Amino acid sequence: MRYDIEADWQLLNTCNYRCDYCFFPGEVLGEKTVRYGTPDEWADAFSATGQTFLLHLTGGEPSAYPDFVDLCAALTRHHFISLNSNLTQASLGDFARSIDPARVSVINAGLHPDERTRRRGLEIFNRNLALLHEAGFSIFVSVVATPQVLEAADEVARQVAVPGVVPVPKLLRGSYHGRQYPDAYDAAERDAFRAMSCRARTAYADWRAARSEPPTIDPFADDDFLTGTPTFADRTCAAGSRFVRIEPQGDVFRCGSDTAPQGNILTRTFAPLGGPSPCNSEYCFYFCRKYTDQKYTGPTFTTPLPATPSLVPPYLVKRVGTALHRVLRR
Ligand code: SF4
Ligand code: SF4
Repeated sequence: MRYDIEADWQLLNTCNYRCDYCFFPGEVLGEKTVRYGTPDEWADAFSATGQTFLLHLTGGEPSAYPDFVDLCAALTRHHFISLNSNLTQASLGDFARSIDPARVSVINAGLHPDERTRRRGLEIFNRNLALLHEAGFSIFVSVVATPQVLEAADEVARQVAVPGVVPVPKLLRGSYHGRQYPDAYDAAERDAFRAMSCRARTAYADWRAARSEPPTIDPFADDDFLTGTPTFADRTCAAGSRFVRIEPQGDVFRCGSDTAPQGNILTRTFAPLGGPSPCNSEYCFYFCRKYTDQKYTGPTFTTPLPATPSLVPPYLVKRVGTALHRVLRR
């Protein structure tokens, strides 16, 4: 799988679940889904950048997007995808039948035990998990490690019915029941988390060894952050050139913490930064380690880009270049 840029694409805000640890409040999760482009418009716009993307579709719940399977089919003609999903939607059946697993880097299946029980969603989760697993998709199950999950880790693991697939604990982050995590984990919860992480690393050892790179969302080492969130400020990072974050309307940002847009995919104003540069933020869950690691950011560039930052925004350079090209062709 060779691509130029990995993108964390928040396709929509909408979700059918209401997990009490979700970063989005209920009114945002309940929003009507907005489609900013047709599947072909999105696919053409990504291709117009001249880059090959690994697009990590997240939300909200991406498989609830109205054109989900058509969008995946259009995107995977030239690009690769990966998914976060709660595996509740019927669209995943069509997805399993019509999308080539070789174009899908990984599926992170979120278990969400409380919502699953509240909504009687375990059967459909296991049905979709088995379907995608048998169809040859690279898939793992993750679970947000609330104190309740850590206390009932064995019972939670038994909810997953596909043999050999165990839930990987994800660090609880931010405010939960009035306490700030991960700092609020007590010693027993930290031990339980480490045991769960260890079990997951053993269960997925062959699967991980067979991959050429970590999954887009990689919770397998979340136990490294049990005692605090690191800072990556000033570290050289390839976010902005090898990795970007995309919002539902197509606006592109360097990473999760950045608020200065780097253009927009649909209006064709996006251009990647020229190369790695110092981190102007502190931390962005899951992406800092990968994009400050030479293994994934140095010699693997497939599209050589100028290393010197320009005073002119890249999308303007691109626009001027296109206009000049048109004039010269006349
Ligand atoms: S399934 Fe994911 S997006 Fe939906 S409410 Fe739960 S955490 Fe939020
Ligand atoms: S926050 Fe992380 S991903 Fe973003 S620029 Fe800094 S090191 Fe890179």
